[in-house]
Amino acid sequence: MPVPPKFAQNVLPRLIKARAAHGLSQRLLALRIGVSEVTVRSWETRRRTPSEDKARRWFGELSVPFPEDTDWFPPTKGPAQCGTRSGYQVHGAADQPACQACNDAQNAYMRAYRRGRR
Ligand SMILES: [Zn+2]
Repeated sequence: MPVPPKFAQNVLPRLIKARAAHGLSQRLLALRIGVSEVTVRSWETRRRTPSEDKARRWFGELSVPFPEDTDWFPPTKGPAQCGTRSGYQVHGAADQPACQACNDAQNAYMRAYRRGRR
């Protein structure tokens, strides 16, 4: 997923500076946000864009005001295959919370799986 230019140019440098100002390593920041260190590194090196949910925690931990014109974050609505188990996995891979349809599909799969094992 390409990093939106507005995010890369205006916001990312502020977040990286704020992390240094707070004396936080990528690892400590990751722990506070609840993601892996690799994820924080991929955000800071522009390889990935956080979901809005994760971005809010990122800003919050660093006391940076969250910019409310959030159109540069990936849509949280999700991929075309929503409502399927692979849709659920796509959310996970994109570091997004799964939508209701995908959660339902995953839960149905897990129920069927557990029934099948008994
Ligand atoms: Zn979905």
